[in-house]
Amino acid sequence: MVKSKVDLRQGGCLCGYVRYEINIEGSRTGNCHCRDCQKNGGGPFMTFTNPEDGHFRWLTEPEGRAYASDIAIRRFCIRCGTPMTWESAADANDMAVSTGTLDEPADIAIVYEIYTKSRWADIPPVPGARQYPADNGTD
Ligand SMILES: [Zn+2]
Ligand SMILES: [Zn+2]
Repeated sequence: MVKSKVDLRQGGCLCGYVRYEINIEGSRTGNCHCRDCQKNGGGPFMTFTNPEDGHFRWLTEPEGRAYASDIAIRRFCIRCGTPMTWESAADANDMAVSTGTLDEPADIAIVYEIYTKSRWADIPPVPGARQYPADNGTD
């Protein structure tokens, strides 16, 4: 029997208003230790899943759009504040979902870490994850 290439999951924000569907087959998940993510997430890093093109769709779109830097739009739920996605301002297909918003995220492997130059001293590298001082781990 041929193994399915679909691992369809759903996720959403803390209050449940924003919902999405994602096929995580072929996706890559990593931690971003950049200062923007530390500010936006309020912790040492944010974890994002980069789906393949066409493998993500909103069921209920977030209304919040933060133009927090020249390169990215961060979308969030205006009702509960949950950070939902990072999207390239230049390329709508270049986007990533906050992995923690998946309904079942705990089995997803962290395969890369980026912006490790601003990693906090007490946060060790994830074993086996590729390490990048800046942003070159996302493609
Ligand atoms: Zn919400
Ligand atoms: Zn970041």
